[in-house]
Amino acid sequence: MTDRETGFSRGPTSLEIDLGAVAANWRLLRDRTTCKRAAAVVKADGYGLGAGPVVKTLAAAGCTLFFAAHLEESIRVRAALRAAGHGDDIEVGVLNGLLPGDAPVMREHGLFPVLNDIGQIDAWGGFCADHGVPLPAAIQTDTGMCRLGLPWQEVRVVSEDPARLSGMEMRYLMSHMACGDDPGHPLNRQQLESFREHVGLLPKPTGGAMLAASSASFLGPDWHFDLIRPGAAIYGVQPNADERPMRPVVRLLARIIQMRDIDKPQTVGYGASFTAEGPRRIATVAVGYADGYLRSASGTAKAFLHGKQIALAGRVSMDLLTFDVTDVPEAQLGDPIELLGAEYGVNELADDAGTIGYEVLTSLGSRYRRNYHGGAS
Ligand SMILES: *Cc1c(COP(=O)(O)O)cnc(C)c1O
Repeated sequence: MTDRETGFSRGPTSLEIDLGAVAANWRLLRDRTTCKRAAAVVKADGYGLGAGPVVKTLAAAGCTLFFAAHLEESIRVRAALRAAGHGDDIEVGVLNGLLPGDAPVMREHGLFPVLNDIGQIDAWGGFCADHGVPLPAAIQTDTGMCRLGLPWQEVRVVSEDPARLSGMEMRYLMSHMACGDDPGHPLNRQQLESFREHVGLLPKPTGGAMLAASSASFLGPDWHFDLIRPGAAIYGVQPNADERPMRPVVRLLARIIQMRDIDKPQTVGYGASFTAEGPRRIATVAVGYADGYLRSASGTAKAFLHGKQIALAGRVSMDLLTFDVTDVPEAQLGDPIELLGAEYGVNELADDAGTIGYEVLTSLGSRYRRNYHGGAS
């Protein structure tokens, strides 16, 4: 691994982002569905990787529908698309819905809201009527998350009074799955049946119906409808414990900034939670929980150095990690330790930290220099 390959020419850390893998993962998701259509969810700054480069890469790969969570995020997505020369034929939705005052801002930036209750439907319908334009919107129904989306009572009210939707263009009808990563969970089929019912009750959306995010896309064709709406899997999070087809996207490198030889029994780090009983070598790198390296990975995380697996020794500090590199005699000051990579990636660190790959990704800190490879950065 040379500096040229990694872009690791200065600084103690480097976050390498493979945009080629981002595009390949999105295509894999799209092509294995029956509908052959996929949106891309790029909320939380593209799951921590940088929404701008991700959006440009996916638009170049053929994605024409993006979702972010907040209005502000969606504005940045639209700006990134415009900067890359794309027009409003590429759609950008706001998952979190329509707050008072949002409608003119959405129109100005060419965004559409995901309408999550009847009040939002009426507000968007009123805005469309006032301006005499049937602006697009998605309608989200709740099929089991009890979070956002119309509860069944409101689905019935709208189905009995479809004129409520007449002023706008209902482009998408959607719902969100609670247990898609657990293929055996009974809620998966219940949510599917509820959503089918909602599709039958409400007017036909011009752009299509969609239910599955990343994991539910792997439950089978029943969940695919007209398009899927993945996020995490695009960035290398595996859809469930058994299906692991996603390509790793991130590689996180940290240079050894100090090496310590232990010659008599001694403890390492806060809380003295790691004890070296015999002679050991400890390498310190400049990454900690302030960089989103989760403290719950203390004592369990692994990494790679010169192709060999090494273990975290002791607790995660705010700015530092200590690894036992005794079994890598060639290790030297300045060598890069691979904290995340192809062999030990976001999914594995998440398992060791007792969380999910989503949290590992969206925690990736602002102190890392992000180096983009192989895409439209
Ligand atoms: C976050 C989100 C997605 C994407 O989910 P992943 O599990 O990351 O694929 C899709 N739809 C909604 C409504 C979401 O909030």
